[in-house]
Amino acid sequence: MTTIDSPPAQSHPDSEPTADASTQPARRKRMLTGDRPTGKLHLGHFVGSIENRIRLQQEYESFFIIADLHMLTTSNTRAAIDQVSANARDMVLDQLSAGIDPEHATFYLQSAIPEVSELNTLFQNLVTVPRLERVPSLKDMARAAGKDEMPYGLLGYPVLQAADILCVKGDVVPVGKDNHAHVEVTREIARRFNHLYGDVFPVPTLIESEITTLVGTDGQAKMSKSLGNSILLSDDAATVRKKVTSMYTDPNRVRADIPGTIEGNPVFVYHHAFNADRDEVADLEERYRAGRVGDVEVKTKLAAAINAFLEPMRERRAVYEAQSGLVDEIIVDGTERTRREVQTVVAEAKRAMGLTGTYNQLRRKAEQARKRRGA
Ligand code: ATP
Ligand code: MG
Repeated sequence: MTTIDSPPAQSHPDSEPTADASTQPARRKRMLTGDRPTGKLHLGHFVGSIENRIRLQQEYESFFIIADLHMLTTSNTRAAIDQVSANARDMVLDQLSAGIDPEHATFYLQSAIPEVSELNTLFQNLVTVPRLERVPSLKDMARAAGKDEMPYGLLGYPVLQAADILCVKGDVVPVGKDNHAHVEVTREIARRFNHLYGDVFPVPTLIESEITTLVGTDGQAKMSKSLGNSILLSDDAATVRKKVTSMYTDPNRVRADIPGTIEGNPVFVYHHAFNADRDEVADLEERYRAGRVGDVEVKTKLAAAINAFLEPMRERRAVYEAQSGLVDEIIVDGTERTRREVQTVVAEAKRAMGLTGTYNQLRRKAEQARKRRGA
């Protein structure tokens, strides 16, 4: 009788020994979000994303991207690129002032991590051109940037964003309305990848803010860096007063004794978002509807409320600003730390796809050939 030894367990050429999952500590869930370094952050960024960053920063391991490669999709002149380091410093300072804790958060510069671009390349075949053409924000961005035709990179904006989110295996993504469709594309790419190559990526969850798009001071749908209709987190009290005084309100209300409309009126949208004195807001609303309050009073109270809201940020900013080089160190340390994480994740993705195995086989054969030649 012959006994057949069971064959030695074959390890897949791409696989590496893995520790028993049960002995591994549970991985802390991760948050990934960020901004393009096109200028200083404003109240729209705050309500759309930063508020949630602050709320979730202790619960999640947090990565905040400075998305300069994304900036290139609409703004790629040498002059714009030369502004990135100053804008990056401003953005990080804005977030620290707003209440992000540098002890817990990791800030990083996207372009300093080439493996993100590698992952972007791998993801490009997991989504179709018609799918990307249906993402509404891309056309808006092309239009806002004055482009008649869609640049290839801008069409791929959500794919690069998927690479950002998944390169650190992000679980939650707090972003404003214009980014919701991008997170949906990320979810599709993660599912598609996992289906084709095995479970590597989480399917991240969008964290929606209460106000998904904050209206601009001019009444345009979106407060935006580029439209000049924003109140910056770094504005001083006098600047806030000036901006609020010239804000767009109900255009039909030419006199204080004419009943006004609250709904969609930016002055009241902001009162709701930033005035902590709810009784004052209710009183102003009632009198506005009845035509018993002038714009001057509504705006004076709004400017005071926004200034009260920004005051703690100003105090924190002064503390951080006094520490020369601190923000640069935070960005550099964060970028190096993130790069190590990303290298691990991209290596895992390439192994799952079989790309690592392909090259390893070639290398082994080349090595053998070299030995045979006695080289
Ligand atoms: P802008 O359009 O003002 O130039 P941006 O859209 O380029 O700014 P991004 O870096 O693309 O800024 O966006 C950073 C984050 O802030 C995203 O999550 C975006 O949805 C959010 N955001 C930006 N503006 C607003 C707004 N007005 N209301 C709500 N969220 C916003
Ligand atoms: Mg944007």
